[in-house]
Amino acid sequence: MSEDAPAYNPNTLPMPKLGYRMRYKQASDMIAEQVVTYLTVEPATENVEAAWFAICGSSEILEIRDQDDRTLWPQHAALPFDPDPPTTHRATPTEPSLTIDELVALSYDTALDHGWWGDRDDPDPINVGEKLMLMVSEISEALEEWRNGHELTDVYYGDDGKPEGVPIELADVLIRIGDFCGRAGIDLDAAVRDKMVYNNGRPHRHGNKRA
Ligand SMILES: [Mg+2]
Repeated sequence: MSEDAPAYNPNTLPMPKLGYRMRYKQASDMIAEQVVTYLTVEPATENVEAAWFAICGSSEILEIRDQDDRTLWPQHAALPFDPDPPTTHRATPTEPSLTIDELVALSYDTALDHGWWGDRDDPDPINVGEKLMLMVSEISEALEEWRNGHELTDVYYGDDGKPEGVPIELADVLIRIGDFCGRAGIDLDAAVRDKMVYNNGRPHRHGNKRA
């Protein structure tokens, strides 16, 4: 699998449905395509589901599209990000929520696209101290927004359309964390779930700590 191919997790891939189309790279480097034209469970040799996942397990999946030609895989490519966004883009409730995996993939991809890691195919090594401090600097920016009188939930827009406010600075924190995890290969989703399960089992205020 090539270095910059998105991580493939068979557990999160869509099940085959009529009209689904998968493009994949065979071991010979030939590009092949599988289109689901029927669904059946018998006989076993015609089990579309088994064939679908056999391909997933043995090939590099390039793209999966649904019956309406919408990209399902890679997931971050399926998000409705406008390549030529208006200057005052605002998220709407109709846009899907990001998963943590998508946050990481999108943040890192965007940073790669904008040159923050040098060559996409040979990214710069991580300056760990600098990257961690940049997360802290976004927290400081959130504090400055509040000090300057903005309410915690206020989002406002500069003349150039740049969103500002405490929520935006907190978003910057997440974007910086996502970028860092993407470059470092940290499974942030698993880490969050691990720690939340642990936290749930801790005693009241961790043994009556003050804060
Ligand atoms: Mg900021």
